Amino acid sequence: MAKGIKMVCAYKRELETATVRNIQELSKADNGSLFCEDPRCRTRVEYNSGYTRLATNTTVSPYLKLAKDCCHAAECKNSISGAVKVFVGDSRDVENVPDIFEDTQDGSFTFRLNLLEQSRTQLNKLSDKMATEPEGSSLGKEYVETKKRLASYCKSAAGISRLRSLIQDRSDVEDFESLVKIQYKDRQVMWKDFFYDDERYHVLYNRLSRSRIEHPIAIRVTAKQVKSSKVEQYPVSIQCYAETEEQSSYIPWVNLHQDLKDLELSSGQSYIVLGHVSNSEKDRFKNLKFAINNRQQIVRER
Ligand SMILES: [Zn+2]
Repeated sequence: MAKGIKMVCAYKRELETATVRNIQELSKADNGSLFCEDPRCRTRVEYNSGYTRLATNTTVSPYLKLAKDCCHAAECKNSISGAVKVFVGDSRDVENVPDIFEDTQDGSFTFRLNLLEQSRTQLNKLSDKMATEPEGSSLGKEYVETKKRLASYCKSAAGISRLRSLIQDRSDVEDFESLVKIQYKDRQVMWKDFFYDDERYHVLYNRLSRSRIEHPIAIRVTAKQVKSSKVEQYPVSIQCYAETEEQSSYIPWVNLHQDLKDLELSSGQSYIVLGHVSNSEKDRFKNLKFAINNRQQIVRER
């Protein structure tokens, strides 16, 4: 039975009142009076105190999940299909540009990663051209529009990966993946090759050791500490919690472009990061390096 996604708000029924509350205002003692926040659903949900992710020894903060034997209404925004539809709908409202999500006949969506790459390439080209053009040329407007479009695509791509990250139960992963298919150039990219959680940093690293990955990928990281870097263009580097095995530690690094150097990631907070990744190695430390040029490439997991 489909379980849906981890939630942070619930509808709490009390003697006299009933309101939607954030998890910060709730506790285990509320179990029994908590219901799904979506008015079309209102199935029973429960407070969960969180747990430790063993792979990275990081803490998952409290969240709300379905109560035993309960399920969301099909159209509920916290069911897998409901969450995807709400997200795709919202991302469509943003701008009048080609949609990164394309409807398919069977009701699923094609997530067109190419569009993101095309915008990125175009932006780089414009940037090169502008460096040699006289000031005040028409390129400026095109540059701003392309940058905005790229930001919107990054937001959509990071956001859909965030939903993948919030799936409450592994048994739902298949449903999600058949609902959102990723297309890159003329081929399909499997979700397992696009999205990496804490337990799969080593998979990503090993894949990179074999060959470069052409398309952007998404990863769930938990920020650990901020370090400065000697690379002029990327002066701030955020070290994230590593997946540690006996022989090796796989460490994600989020390298912020100089324009984003003031962007703060909270230590202990989990984020979804979207971008191109490269690797390097020193002794037992195996680094996964992400270059962040656009702030929409990073989204809080919740
Ligand atoms: Zn629901």
